[in-house]
Amino acid sequence: MDRVIVAGGGLVGCAVSMFLVRRGIPVVIYERGADPRLTSVTTRPSINVTLCARGLRSLERLALTDRLPGLLMPAYGRMIHNTSGAITYQPYSESGDAIYCVARRQLCIALLNAAEERGVTLVFDRRVTTVDCDDGAIVLEDRDGHRTHDRASAILAADGCYSTIRRQLQRRDRFDYAQSYCTHGYKELIIPEALARAASLTEDALHLWPRHDFMALAFANVDRSFTCSIHLPFDGPDGFEALADDGAVRSFFGRWFADLVPLVPSFAPRFLAQPPNSMVTIRCWPWSARRVLLLGDAAHAMFPSYGQGANAGFQDCELLDELIGRHGTDWRRVFTAFESMRKPDTDAMADLCGEHFVELRERVDHDTFHRRCRVERELHRCFPDRFVPLYSMISFSSIGYAEARRRDAIQQSLVDALMRDPHIEARLREPAFLDSLSTRLGSLAREVARVS
Ligand SMILES: Cc1cc2nc3c(=O)[nH]c(=O)nc-3n(C[C@H](O)[C@H](O)[C@H](O)COP(=O)(O)OP(=O)(O)OC[C@H]3O[C@@H](n4cnc5c(N)ncnc54)[C@H](O)[C@@H]3O)c2cc1C
Repeated sequence: MDRVIVAGGGLVGCAVSMFLVRRGIPVVIYERGADPRLTSVTTRPSINVTLCARGLRSLERLALTDRLPGLLMPAYGRMIHNTSGAITYQPYSESGDAIYCVARRQLCIALLNAAEERGVTLVFDRRVTTVDCDDGAIVLEDRDGHRTHDRASAILAADGCYSTIRRQLQRRDRFDYAQSYCTHGYKELIIPEALARAASLTEDALHLWPRHDFMALAFANVDRSFTCSIHLPFDGPDGFEALADDGAVRSFFGRWFADLVPLVPSFAPRFLAQPPNSMVTIRCWPWSARRVLLLGDAAHAMFPSYGQGANAGFQDCELLDELIGRHGTDWRRVFTAFESMRKPDTDAMADLCGEHFVELRERVDHDTFHRRCRVERELHRCFPDRFVPLYSMISFSSIGYAEARRRDAIQQSLVDALMRDPHIEARLREPAFLDSLSTRLGSLAREVARVS
């Protein structure tokens, strides 16, 4: 009888387990941490994640969306705060599409509850220390160092960005591995509900303070407080290293984030009290070895800037489920099909995350960027099937990431040409011009179809 061990009871470990039990495959999750439902003490950072259409679709497949509404806060666009205190709004789309902010811990608790109700066995305080890929055996250690063993027909490593199991695969012959840290890090601060309300911070938008080489962003939580993350370079005069005392913090933030500082009580001491967190991209290959498969962050950690890590992880689970539907529990077949289908997408998304981080910091506050976004949104409004902005393809569709990137490269050649016309926004309202554009977009659509 097939039985599966899942290492890691995070978002992806829980989701994949539910897909498996739905197919009648018994699953045990071994999680190194304590049960988050029983303790408020956590060793993990209390981050917020945004879910978009692709992640929500995977959760819908698990019939979980009725558990989520109370946890999710929608954001329909970006509120850009510039240095003079002026605020401009950029909707994500013309049709009211939103991304949804959720506390990762609360989402994980909801998924753990659902997994347990559906028959997944949850074992906490058990760290996977060793794995034998060939016979599916693992060694586990509890908090006191006591060791136990288990064995299954397949082992799914959903043990996150710093995966123990991936480290073991690295010792095998011809395992490729690359990690690349971002030059920037982040710290998180809370804006209490009362101060957010007094400052009229709109809850249904992402607030963004782009400052070229650094930025801050804030999302509303369900209790109406906001979680604000401040992204700075680690080094240099505007970096975390230089902002090491009260005076330096006050002067830097007073200059660049004057409207943000009063929203966080005791801003400077809170900022100084925590170390900066790093962001890393991890690529590796292959993702599987005999009975073992990496998925989620263990296979493809990416910068959080595009809000896709968890969404991509949920899509991994959905694809794996489809492949089990096709090949049954012929795990070698399922695993090799999974990794070869999925890797081009997560590689493309990792690249997009790096590019988007620069866009958020450096470009969103420029008139040309606003104008370009308006033109793209108008093209989408007039030709919804033929032109879809990149952000919409990533966040409001389930088109493969690599395919979205390819389509966007083709679309951008058209937008570049249109942007050379200083009156383009007015022209997009002229019926004759729209007719001619329709023909151009027709050939663009054929090019997209040909390439894909
Ligand atoms: C600041 C920040 C913001 C983010 N924002 C977004 C966002 O907006 N949208 C989005 O989609 N994604 C976002 N992400 C990414 C998202 O959090 C991750 O992609 C997602 O949590 C990955 O899920 P996972 O289950 O693969 O790994 P994790 O969530 O890291 O879970 C891994 C689990 O494995 C356990 N574990 C680790 N080692 C072992 C072991 N040896 N034995 C047993 N258990 C083990 C850990 O305790 C943990 O519970 C963000 C990440 C960060 C850091």
